[in-house]
Amino acid sequence: MIEADVAVVGAGPAGAAAALALAGRARVVLVDRRAEPEDRIGETLPGAARRLLAGLGLDAEAVMADGHEPVWARRSVWGAAQPAELDALADPAGPGVRLDRRRFEARLRAEAAGRGARLVAPAAARVARAGEEWTVEAGAVRVAAPLLVDAGGRGSRLLREQAGRPAAQDRLVCVWTHLPLVRPAQAVTYVESEPDGWWYTAPLPGGRRLLAFHTDADLLRAAGVHRRLLERALALPSLAAELSGADTGRPGPVRTCAAHGARPGAAGGDGWLAVGDASMCFDPLSSQGLFHALYTGLAAGGAALAMLGGEARAGAEYSAALDPVWDAYVAHRALYYGMERRWPGAPFWRRRLPNPEKQHL
Ligand SMILES: Cc1cc2nc3c(=O)[nH]c(=O)nc-3n(C[C@H](O)[C@H](O)[C@H](O)COP(=O)(O)OP(=O)(O)OC[C@H]3O[C@@H](n4cnc5c(N)ncnc54)[C@H](O)[C@@H]3O)c2cc1C
Repeated sequence: MIEADVAVVGAGPAGAAAALALAGRARVVLVDRRAEPEDRIGETLPGAARRLLAGLGLDAEAVMADGHEPVWARRSVWGAAQPAELDALADPAGPGVRLDRRRFEARLRAEAAGRGARLVAPAAARVARAGEEWTVEAGAVRVAAPLLVDAGGRGSRLLREQAGRPAAQDRLVCVWTHLPLVRPAQAVTYVESEPDGWWYTAPLPGGRRLLAFHTDADLLRAAGVHRRLLERALALPSLAAELSGADTGRPGPVRTCAAHGARPGAAGGDGWLAVGDASMCFDPLSSQGLFHALYTGLAAGGAALAMLGGEARAGAEYSAALDPVWDAYVAHRALYYGMERRWPGAPFWRRRLPNPEKQHL
């Protein structure tokens, strides 16, 4: 049995950030079911993340330059047929980066371990609570701690009893693949709306391009999007032009994942905290998830130290402090979807109008 002050379950960006914020100040165990981070979607880190990385005691410029690539502009076909472009030079926080996601997560894990957090992986954790103490069973390892941090991501069920079931905004899903690049691409993020949802494409470090389509789960099935992803993308002239430097005949595996926004009833309470997607997750249109993961990891570090110091209310206060984050996200999401008025009768867009008629998704 490992005796710890804080058990963090999930060593993704949020869990690693929480462990970084706590290591050296408390005995931290960081558990993940994967031995190494895996190749996954979610790679645009905004320039404002520099402040958070610095707040975690990291050399922000070094972390953001470590195998990742700057994002210089965002081009969108949204609300009108003509593309509009936003230059990263307009961002006072500086350009964001397109992450090599595996490399980024591996670095955060290594930095946390280097600072003294004990990493247990690969091990899928199960948790139980008796009185004031949590027990985390992770493979052959058992951890006892007064404080549990759920960093298990959007599907985490570790703290369902304490946090409540997340209420989903919709049934947004993302279908995505990687395409090999045959020539260097502009460092531009591209977004395009269409009647059944919206597209996203961006070049990734390592000579690949991500192509992703976002729609509702029922529309995905009805339109057979999974089978016809490339065909559909190439039928849109502006998107097809964006893909011209990629080999569209050699796509990687086509994968589907949940992409809806959702929030559980609470993100912290007596003896527990939730960080990153486990605290609230966002529609990827917001590009907010990684920033939130780092932000909540940092904030939860402070709350955890206060709780260990006897401030019983710190968990609930941490949770309440996230209310404005959710409110701002909801307002921005409505604003962005509200800007697209070209297909008012299409279910995907009708469901996202400010006062949609009641319907079953
Ligand atoms: C389609 C899509 C596109 C996105 N694009 C972007 C983007 O461009 N920019 C952006 O900022 N965000 C983006 N996001 C969101 C971003 O990926 C997430 O917000 C981010 O991954 C959240 O980090 P996390 O650490 O909370 O969770 P995760 O990254 O999901 O990490 C959770 C970790 O917990 C581990 N785990 C879970 N349960 C257990 C258990 N029981 N035991 C042990 N380990 C466990 C997992 O193995 C994993 O390592 C996107 C999301 C989607 C769905």
